[in-house]
Amino acid sequence: MGDTIFGKIIRRDIPADIVYEDDNVLAFRDLNPQAPVHVLFIPKRAIATLDAATDADAELLGKLMLAAAAYARSEGLAEQGYRVVMNCNEHGGQTVFHVHLHLLAGRRMQWPPG
Ligand code: C5P
Repeated sequence: MGDTIFGKIIRRDIPADIVYEDDNVLAFRDLNPQAPVHVLFIPKRAIATLDAATDADAELLGKLMLAAAAYARSEGLAEQGYRVVMNCNEHGGQTVFHVHLHLLAGRRMQWPPG
């Protein structure tokens, strides 16, 4: 488990508004939401960035994606649609170096992103 704020959330060392958990994935509401629904999906086994992922992480990253999709479906977000985003390193806007998938929903998204 990586030594980041998300590692602390996984260990329950700091609080978070957890909305989903299974053996591999934890999801919680973003503290600084950028849409009416903004949930972060993180793997319990830390990977620092998408750039650091290897073939050994393929199944875990697939589970992360599918957990986000299942959550969106269960919350009735899939029909209108949503966006998932993974920021990688400085220019990607990554600030927490434990891979996480942003699920954004509840409004029409713009393209291109900022
Ligand atoms: O992709 P990026 O690394 O910038 O995303 C990190 C996200 O983690 C931010 O959206 C930030 O609001 C969120 N965060 C959080 N709770 C924390 C620390 C960061 O929801 N305790």
